[in-house]
Formats: sequence, C-alpha cells, structure tokens
Amino acid sequence: MHSCRDISILVSQGLDKKLSWRERFTVRMHLMMCTRCRNFQKQTQFIRKAARHYTDGLQSRLDKKS
Ligand SMILES: [Zn+2]
Repeated sequence: MHSCRDISILVSQGLDKKLSWRERFTVRMHLMMCTRCRNFQKQTQFIRKAARHYTDGLQSRLDKKS
C-alpha cells in the first residue's frame, strides 16, 4: 500500500514528466479513496497552471518592450 507521501511525490512528478502506466494506476487508485490527495492534486495542478499563466504574461510584456 502506498502512503499519501508516496502519492504526493508521484503527483508532483507527473506535472513535469509522463508517469508510467503503473505509476498512474497507483495514483488513480489512491485518489479514489483519499480525499486529501485528491485535493493535493487539484491544488498542484491549479498552482502550476497559474504559474505558467503568470510567466506567459511576463514574457509577452517583455516582448512588447523590445
Ligand atoms: Zn492519500
């Protein structure tokens, strides 16, 4: 059985690289039972999206200047 700590590591790794089907399966099974990790996944995905949005905006502002 994987702990919430293992799952949170896999979830954050999954943002940067493609997980193997076994890892994705592990995460999915765990998320079905664990609200805490489901919320963690939602939050990390939201933060990642917001961060990307922010750097994109910054980049286009820099482009306009030059
Ligand atoms: Zn969990």
